[in-house]
Amino acid sequence: MQSITNTLAFVMVQQGIFALGWFAAGMGLNLARKASLYWSVATLITAAGLGLISMRGQVPDWLSYPLADWLTVLGMALIQRGVQIFNRTRSAPWEMLTLLLVTALAMAWIAATDGHHATGLVLATSAAVAWALLRTAQTLFFSLRLEFGVGRATGMSLPFALMGLAFLTRFIGGMLRPDVVGQPVNVAGAFNEALVLGFLMMGLVTNLSLSYLVVSRILSQLQRLSLHDSLTGLLNRRALQQRLELESRRMMRTQAGFAVIMLDIDYFKQLNDSHGHAAGDFALAGLAEELRAVSREIDHAARMGGEEFCLVLPQCDLDGALLVAERLRARIAAMSLPWEGEQLRLTVSLGVAAASPAEARPGVDAAEAVLRQADRALYRAKAAGRNRVEAQAQADMKPSRVA
Ligand code: GH3
Ligand code: MG
Ligand code: MG
Repeated sequence: MQSITNTLAFVMVQQGIFALGWFAAGMGLNLARKASLYWSVATLITAAGLGLISMRGQVPDWLSYPLADWLTVLGMALIQRGVQIFNRTRSAPWEMLTLLLVTALAMAWIAATDGHHATGLVLATSAAVAWALLRTAQTLFFSLRLEFGVGRATGMSLPFALMGLAFLTRFIGGMLRPDVVGQPVNVAGAFNEALVLGFLMMGLVTNLSLSYLVVSRILSQLQRLSLHDSLTGLLNRRALQQRLELESRRMMRTQAGFAVIMLDIDYFKQLNDSHGHAAGDFALAGLAEELRAVSREIDHAARMGGEEFCLVLPQCDLDGALLVAERLRARIAAMSLPWEGEQLRLTVSLGVAAASPAEARPGVDAAEAVLRQADRALYRAKAAGRNRVEAQAQADMKPSRVA
């Protein structure tokens, strides 16, 4: 009896520490602010419920039995709501509100008719807690599966599922063997001891799971930000470099070449000067749409900086890339972007180069070489009058060997 009450008090302190942790994460670090606050309040309420349970006999029974049990259910329902908020599942809070209301009515009725120590209270609490935990596991699994893959989604939802199953066992076992499994949690017995210890460990694991979830989401957001251009959503220069290196390595393995189209907006400074910087930004975003439109799924479209863009075309030769570049040039020249009652029009100059395994030379970075060739071609397109496509020069394609 004494040892189980001690363990309960220990779990209460543990939940209180989690409450502080979530509060600090939400308010102090601004991490998943709203969900963190839900989890903070949830763990605090669970701690309060456990505190009341460990004071059974010292405080009025209505506080330490039905109310304490209901607070545990409320804690679990708030965790589920926090998970829904974190995953932006558009479901209304009705399910958990109904669960709380039904449980409150059932508990009040059981306490009034069968007394505060009734097995009915244990059964009602177990069923409601099991429901909230299993729904949390389900929400987590289905919303994380797409974001993080089945493995990680299972890892993050499993602790909730296990804890939910433990309470379901207590509900079913309590109906079959009320004398063993249906006893209030502070009553000593093998099942209750296992349950409280399980709660101690699973409390730790579920909170770790939620923290891991928050960190994973932030890391993937940071990774996205570090590889994409914020104005156009295209890959940024760093990401382009990575993709080019990947394509050069792939070329050496598969013997299939790749091509690069570099493009630069013509007289863009004039557009900025005459219509303002915001119009310029709008035009950049419009041009990015055209790049996406001509890209295949395997292509990589990037903004290199300013008004310069690059399209990497895997498994594509120079002729194929020239066709794409000409299509892109024509589409952009035909584009007309509505801006404050006017129509913005643009043209671009494009330089095209291709890398092929036959021309690859040891010690020469194929990615860097093909970019340089495309850049030179782009320069020639500018010099030749703009709004045109130029291919890499023959001299660029077959570099003369130094004897
Ligand atoms: P050219 O045909 O020779 O390429 O002429 P240009 O005017 O396009 O070239 P220049 O390099 O002289 O000017 C590039 C301009 O691009 C200058 C700068 O104001 C503008 N620019 C660069 N980055 C941004 C941006 O993020 N937003 C906007 N609105 N303008 C930008
Ligand atoms: Mg320009
Ligand atoms: Mg430029």
